[in-house]
Amino acid sequence: MEVAIIGGGAAGYFSALSVKENHPDADVTIFEKTRHPLAKVRISGGGRCNVTNGNKSISTVAKGYPRGRAFMKRALKVFNTTDTMTWFESKDVPLFTQEDTRVFPVSQDSESIVDCLLGQAESRGIVCEFWSAIESITPKDRRLELNFSRLDLAPRSFDKVIVASGGSPTSRGLKWLEQLGHKIVEPVPSLFTFNMPDESIVDLTGVAIDPVLVSIPGTSLKERGPLLITHWGFSGPAILKLSAFGARFFHDTEYSFNVRVNWLDQTNHESVLNQLIGVTAEHARKRLPNIRPFGLPERLWRYLLAKGGFSETKKWGELGSKGLNKLAAVLTNDSYSVSGKTGFKDEFVTCGGISLDDIDGKSMESKVCENLYFAGEIMDIDGITGGFNFQAAWTTGYIAGKLE
Ligand SMILES: Cc1cc2nc3c(=O)[nH]c(=O)nc-3n(C[C@H](O)[C@H](O)[C@H](O)COP(=O)(O)OP(=O)(O)OC[C@H]3O[C@@H](n4cnc5c(N)ncnc54)[C@H](O)[C@@H]3O)c2cc1C
Repeated sequence: MEVAIIGGGAAGYFSALSVKENHPDADVTIFEKTRHPLAKVRISGGGRCNVTNGNKSISTVAKGYPRGRAFMKRALKVFNTTDTMTWFESKDVPLFTQEDTRVFPVSQDSESIVDCLLGQAESRGIVCEFWSAIESITPKDRRLELNFSRLDLAPRSFDKVIVASGGSPTSRGLKWLEQLGHKIVEPVPSLFTFNMPDESIVDLTGVAIDPVLVSIPGTSLKERGPLLITHWGFSGPAILKLSAFGARFFHDTEYSFNVRVNWLDQTNHESVLNQLIGVTAEHARKRLPNIRPFGLPERLWRYLLAKGGFSETKKWGELGSKGLNKLAAVLTNDSYSVSGKTGFKDEFVTCGGISLDDIDGKSMESKVCENLYFAGEIMDIDGITGGFNFQAAWTTGYIAGKLE
């Protein structure tokens, strides 16, 4: 059996290895359009490669996928995060799980993952041909013919083909697969931070608050977690998660929208008010800036007081019920205007790609083109940060490589 893999990234290498594990006699060739296999693995996780997530529960892991959750939930039953860890550790790449559940190689160096995948491929006789961009696929006599962009490369025909060419920033980049009859879900970016050029809160650069509740008015988008104020706007896990779950909505607004912040992560107005009344009773003669309830950082506390129009000389006992209500509102229902986005440490993924309607989740085979399989980010699956995107590549690559 002759098998071609299109794309020498995480999903491409992992599916190639899975083919050899399941079909040891198969001839496997990876076609990579650049000279640099596993380029994203190399730069991933700030050069440390967040290879997977330490959560073991399939339903918890599946929740890390804003797109493709149900599809991943089924696929993870075949190859879960624990399988990823076992796989790499059995190949002499020890891993460790951070407190925040992200998993990295003990070496803290993505080269350990790259070397492992390249070494495994080489020892199993998997060939990688570089400078070999595939331009189109033509089904012919139950085989698939690959056509190259380079004019000096003649078309080559294979029994099975796995497409693992990664996320494409535009639908145009997926035309060659649309021509075979696949539906394309319009690609848009996911995983970004919010730019807030018109908001003075950016003067509080470096202030971190954990947890806050961030939401987008008029939608059901809502996330809880740490928020970091940067010199351009809001960042941190709560914002990145919100950007992932709202990727398409934010794209449609052209990245111009309001974000609501509940700095206390408390939704019960009455209860917040009662806590403030308690402070008033205890510290009636103290000035507002001098008593910081809820443990908010001092710079943020002063900023919020100013935003609410409270003078720094005002005393707690002078607030009155109107003042208390206003303070509770600033603390739990604060609003900022966002205008633009910024990539998060260059990590981004594509939301969209080949529609999952056209892929058989049991085998990753195309429903519209026999003997063609998909793996990795080219599919309409993407995850939040924390190792979920590589896990999708390992899981779908492993299943595709069975060639069932
Ligand atoms: C800076 C950065 C950091 C990241 N860090 C993490 C992290 O720590 N943890 C995590 O889980 N995720 C991370 N991600 C996301 C993760 O890297 C991707 O989701 C993952 O690499 C997708 O793997 P893939 O094999 O599907 O695609 P890719 O890694 O994009 O590989 C696709 C390959 O196919 C090749 N190719 C494309 N078109 C063709 C063609 N027509 N013919 C031949 N070859 C082709 C490309 O050159 C590329 O080598 C990060 C992403 C970025 C950008």
